[in-house]
Amino acid sequence: KFITFEGGEGAGKSTVLARVAEKLRALDYNVLTTREPGGIQISEAIRHIILDTNHTAMDAKTEALLYAAARRQHLVEKVQPALTDGTIVLCDRFIDSSLAYQGYARGLGIDQIYTINQFAIDACMPSLTLWFKLNPEIGLKRIETNSEREQNRLDLETRAFHEKVYKGYQILAERFSDRIHPIRADLTIEEVTELALNEVISHIN
Ligand code: C5P
Repeated sequence: KFITFEGGEGAGKSTVLARVAEKLRALDYNVLTTREPGGIQISEAIRHIILDTNHTAMDAKTEALLYAAARRQHLVEKVQPALTDGTIVLCDRFIDSSLAYQGYARGLGIDQIYTINQFAIDACMPSLTLWFKLNPEIGLKRIETNSEREQNRLDLETRAFHEKVYKGYQILAERFSDRIHPIRADLTIEEVTELALNEVISHIN
């Protein structure tokens, strides 16, 4: 099973993903956790190019193509072999990040970004996507006060941009309502973990 975790900045998806994986392993499931952009050497190198705070001149289409390239390499090198082995793959971000950030928030168009990503992923779509739904204002406050988080180019974006990302996810959650399930992310980490774990378990059983 291929399951992805999505959401805006500070929604807690990465922390919750690690905790859900730990709980699934305790229940004897085989689980692989990974992240995008990155997860393997080539894609981490691409991530570094995209998120470099010096790269303020990066064109939106260049950015979208780099994400798609990082996604393809990560998928064929890491995700697909694990899926073939019957491992449950929990991936921090996937195609919906591109649809929400580059497609909607940057205004390139959800359908256009969907098309270039279908070329990249050959229809290998997640069967479940959890959208960590959180008011972007709260998310941005959380990351401001988290000193451990490394700064990236997206932190230079305006609040209006992050509002658009939220709106983008909302559109996607309506359009792909069978696959994308919203998770309340305004609760404590323990509570959000519980909600996410329940969704994952009912999906894999
Ligand atoms: O989830 P994580 O914090 O690792 O993501 C790194 C950064 O990349 C975030 O700031 C996120 O907003 C950005 N990103 C993006 N477009 C994507 C995927 C991630 O702008 N398609």
